This record gives sequence, C-alpha cells and structure tokens, in this order.
Amino acid sequence: MIMKPSHKAIFLDRDGVINQEVDYLSNPDDLKLIDGVIPALKIFKKLGYKLVVITNQSGIARGILTEVDLSNIHIRLKEILKIDSIDLDGIYFCPHHPDINLSDGVKKYLMDCTCRKPNNGMLLQAQQDLNIDFSSSFLVGDSLRDIQSGNLCGIQGFGVKTGKGCPGLTDSVGIHLNDLLDVAIYIQNNFS
Ligand SMILES: [Mg+2]
Ligand SMILES: [Zn+2]
Repeated sequence: MIMKPSHKAIFLDRDGVINQEVDYLSNPDDLKLIDGVIPALKIFKKLGYKLVVITNQSGIARGILTEVDLSNIHIRLKEILKIDSIDLDGIYFCPHHPDINLSDGVKKYLMDCTCRKPNNGMLLQAQQDLNIDFSSSFLVGDSLRDIQSGNLCGIQGFGVKTGKGCPGLTDSVGIHLNDLLDVAIYIQNNFS
C-alpha cells in the first residue's frame, strides 16, 4: 500500500475574509475582494498550502439565493483569482439552516446538519477529499463560529478584523489580526 503524502491547508471563511461582507451575497456583480487578499493568497501558495474555502450559506435555506446563484458567484471568484494565477483547491458550503420552521425557508435545506459552522463537517469532508493534515493547517474567519469549527479539529485559528471582525475572540480560542494579509505574513514569519 502506498502512503499518500498529507497536505497542509489554509481554510478560509469566504464572506468578510476574502470578499467584502454584504448581507447574503447573491449576485456575482456584488463580489468585491478585500484589500490584500491577492498578495495574501500568493504567500500561502508560495509556502505550499492548499487553499480551501469553507462557507456557511444559509441564504440558500432562507430562499435568498439558489445553489446555481452560489455556483455563479464561485465561478466569478475563481475568474478574479485566475488573473493572478491563484487556484482554489476546494470550496465547501453549507446551504442549511437549523430552524425547521423558518418562515419563507426552503424545506429541503431546513435541518440540524453537521456541516454548518461551528460544526466541523465541511472540514472533515475536505480533509478526506484533499488528504489534509490538520495539525499543520490553519483556519481564518471573521466570526467566532468559524474559529470554533477549526478548533474541533485541533486547527489553529485566526480571527480577522475585516467583515464581522470576529467579536468575542479570546487568546485561548484564536489569534486576532487585522486582515488576511496580516495572517499570511504572521504564518510566514512564525510557521515556515
Ligand atoms: Mg464570514
Ligand atoms: Zn449544513
């Protein structure tokens, strides 16, 4: 049996970390990258990390956008990154919402799932698909539940002050920095 090498990854929340936070982004034209994201992703790639987006998209369960709309947004995101020769290694999303009685909700997405952060189902799926070593990986988010999701897998988390700003983050849970570029520089200086 051949042992495949394990890869290290940067798990990235999307809204408020990569693109500017708008309430339930549903139109690709509203996708705007946060300053410093391109150089940050280039640093991660240079250091040999896989780039994996992990995003809660309950707007789908709420009937605000469809899976097709979300796919179009991700096509646009990949096009924008392609200009700088940056490829994402995976995009995982949770379309669910736990409130089965949510008004105007889309029935098939209303469930108490294991993928919605702070659960870690998306991380476990990515680990399996991409052969990722959690212990050498990091996670970046702008909400406490992002960081908590990573902590369930023993992943060191970083909260950023862009987007929702990661309120409530304490030192025992994660490291609070300004933005994704600061996280990239921090990892470059301290973990490589
Ligand atoms: Mg976010
Ligand atoms: Zn889910």
